[in-house]
Amino acid sequence: MAGDYIRQKYLEAVFSWNAEQEGFTGSDAIVQFMQAHRDDSDANDLWNYYEDVFAWVQKIFGTGFDKSMKGVPWGFLYNAHKDDNLDPALLQAEVERLLADSEVQKKTGIYPYLLAGEEKYLNIRQFDSDVALSVYHAQGGKCALCGQAKDFKEMHADHIQPWSKGGKTVPENCQMLCVQCNLKKSNK
Ligand SMILES: [Zn+2]
Repeated sequence: MAGDYIRQKYLEAVFSWNAEQEGFTGSDAIVQFMQAHRDDSDANDLWNYYEDVFAWVQKIFGTGFDKSMKGVPWGFLYNAHKDDNLDPALLQAEVERLLADSEVQKKTGIYPYLLAGEEKYLNIRQFDSDVALSVYHAQGGKCALCGQAKDFKEMHADHIQPWSKGGKTVPENCQMLCVQCNLKKSNK
């Protein structure tokens, strides 16, 4: 039944979080974890861990539940960030802001983004290929930075003003860059 399947997947997730916290990694982490605990008389440790994870989530992100919080690998975030010095008021304001930002396509990525600071979790909106193609033609098939002529498929549609600085995914904010210039820009 679907309900049983979901419960089983959920339990697996909690096991894998707890396994990581105890230092078991790799594809058989859960098996190693279960072997290490096969003589336990009860599952209290697992439940205590589970409660710790969710107490931590509530402490930093509040008790208001948003559907974007579903399916977030909370235990892995807890393991990595439970000792970080975090400001709940600031984090919750940031969650609100990012939930409302249509450029952020992966809302479940807001939490790992705020904790780890990596933009890749947010899956920021990209330019549609028709926009990219019209910008490519407007630039005469040349890279906007170095001026080299390249095939369309060797170019990247870049946000002139990046998302982190308030840039939107609108045609006026699109430029076509060659691979090298794009790498140089994103490494800055
Ligand atoms: Zn270039």
